[in-house]
Amino acid sequence: MNPLLVFPDLPRFDAFSPDHVAPALEELIERARAALAKATDPATPLEWQSLVTPLEDATEQLGRAWGTVSHLNAVADSPELRAAYNAELPRVVQFWTELGQDQNLFARYQALHDSAGFAALSPERQRVVTHALRDFRLGGAELVSPARERFAAIQERAAELSQRFSENVLDATNAFALPIDDEKELAGIPDDARESARAEAQRRGVPGYLLTLQQPAVLAVLQYAEQRSLRASIYRANATRASSAAQAPATEAERGALDNAPVMDEILALRAEEAGLLGYPNFAEVSLVPKMAGSAGEVVSFLRDLGQRARPFAERDYAELKAFAAGELAIDELCAWDIPFASEKLRESRYAYSGQEVRRYFQLPRVLGGLFALVERLFGVSVKPDQASVWHDDVSFYRIERDGALVGQFYLDLYSRGDKRPGAWMDDARSRRRIGGELQTPAAYLICNFQAPSQGRPALLTHDEVTTLFHEFGHGLHHMLTRVDELAVSGISGVEWDAVELPSQFLENFCWEWQIVREMSAHIDTGEPLPRALFDRMLAAKNFQSGLQTLRQVEFALFDMLLHSQFTPGAAKSVQQLLDEVRSEVAVVIPPAFNRFQNSFAHIFGGGYAAGYYSYKWAEVLSADAYASFEEAAEQADGDRMVAETGQIFLREILSVGGSRPAIDSFRAFRGRDPEIAALLRHNGMV
Ligand SMILES: [Zn+2]
Repeated sequence: MNPLLVFPDLPRFDAFSPDHVAPALEELIERARAALAKATDPATPLEWQSLVTPLEDATEQLGRAWGTVSHLNAVADSPELRAAYNAELPRVVQFWTELGQDQNLFARYQALHDSAGFAALSPERQRVVTHALRDFRLGGAELVSPARERFAAIQERAAELSQRFSENVLDATNAFALPIDDEKELAGIPDDARESARAEAQRRGVPGYLLTLQQPAVLAVLQYAEQRSLRASIYRANATRASSAAQAPATEAERGALDNAPVMDEILALRAEEAGLLGYPNFAEVSLVPKMAGSAGEVVSFLRDLGQRARPFAERDYAELKAFAAGELAIDELCAWDIPFASEKLRESRYAYSGQEVRRYFQLPRVLGGLFALVERLFGVSVKPDQASVWHDDVSFYRIERDGALVGQFYLDLYSRGDKRPGAWMDDARSRRRIGGELQTPAAYLICNFQAPSQGRPALLTHDEVTTLFHEFGHGLHHMLTRVDELAVSGISGVEWDAVELPSQFLENFCWEWQIVREMSAHIDTGEPLPRALFDRMLAAKNFQSGLQTLRQVEFALFDMLLHSQFTPGAAKSVQQLLDEVRSEVAVVIPPAFNRFQNSFAHIFGGGYAAGYYSYKWAEVLSADAYASFEEAAEQADGDRMVAETGQIFLREILSVGGSRPAIDSFRAFRGRDPEIAALLRHNGMV
């Protein structure tokens, strides 16, 4: 038996080899094509069981097998697996694209939606059909020739341009290198950054040091270099990448080739045209259809409100910084390239603590114990070790039970390895679904990249890493504690893009609760919990310059939203002018006129964040406000009972329902009102 084809069981990782990929995928794509043909056959009855279920069966299996291969590609990379993955990737992508654009399937779903039987479907099933229709429409399925062909051409060209935008940023970043002969010029820069600069020079066969625009190198200079002119050079080179004002490459023609200004203009024009074809006034409204936020206007108001509330704190942060720079650093006029430097010095003088010292208090087994105990207390479940076949000896497996019954399972793969992608993430191994009378329980992959334990001692985590673990576990709970039986809206499936970080950011808050930190910390040598004074300093450092940081996020998000809603590509106002307007409205610190930040704003031009950058702050409002409900419960006379009760409501109204209803309805059902911004401000020290 092919270990990728053991449905509904979890994959047999111990029996897997890359040779299994091609035959499994070929078989599953064939089955999915057959199911699609059956679903679009007019002879197939227009009913859920005969139309939707068989297609879901087949596409779920394809999705799961491909998910397993992608997962292994990320955590157990090998040349053979990579080759097998790349060989199948085009076929898999092609199938999903065809499925999403199938006119006949669109017509069948529309007919099901319009049929008398639709009203008799459960609300979850109705939502699955409505979502499918929405996605078909946004994919251009309703368009007729010639708009149809034009839409396809726009998609293709826009994808090319996004790719070009990112490549230009990358090439422009790599084109710059500043040679440094005299080590004295590097004064203040930490040893590891200095060593990288020396290695870079060696690699390129030049003497001395080479400073590049790789982000760690830029940060090292801007935060630590004593030499002001060096900070200014690196700041300018970094802030003008991929623009006509760039410092590299050498010739004007080469710089012109990497200039992202025309790329941005064309992307914006294409997005506006796409919106017009789909019948929307602008691209922001298209982007917001599958999101929680109702309209561009709503997002703009939200951002302006947040900006105004944060402004006094940002002004205070900036005044404090200016006074410190003048008094302690002899910098009388604070320039853009002084801000990170002065900020770092201020942070060190006010809130310095050793991250390495903190790390000695967080032993992984104890942190996991604290996390599981919290989840058990909040949501009335129990977490227990379990058995499954895994892809590496370091991987462990657990089950979550409620009243003795299995709810979900998860894999923990927490240590970094050479064959593993960096970062941390949660991914679904299997989603909850009822098939016939049988319940398929969900399973999750929880992946981090912590330093592996050594010398027989447990692994130690920084506080940031503890927070990361809680964050990913929050996503995992959303996936595993769902009670929805329909695949397309169970767990995190079908949850709005700008609401999906609610459970993850929510759980992070508990890493800042003294009781919890005390219980899950124990010094590796003494066994003592983290001292309260150290915890208080960490808390103060967390909120350092939160006003300035909030305004920076608001500036980017407002620029993004206005650019995609109130800006006409090709008209009199340029992208630069719009950004200048946003800055003069929002920012406390106006960047120098040569700054071309937008030319390397890859989130919105090269990635998937167009008219979506606001979602970072949006989700933070939701998660902070949700967490505040637990704070309020804890303050009651019978705090423990109230917290447990609040946990049950959170479970019932948010975690359990997944994508089966709009996120705003879930939030209101939990909180009894609309989201409010106050908790976010309070948690960031802006009160
Ligand atoms: Zn996340």
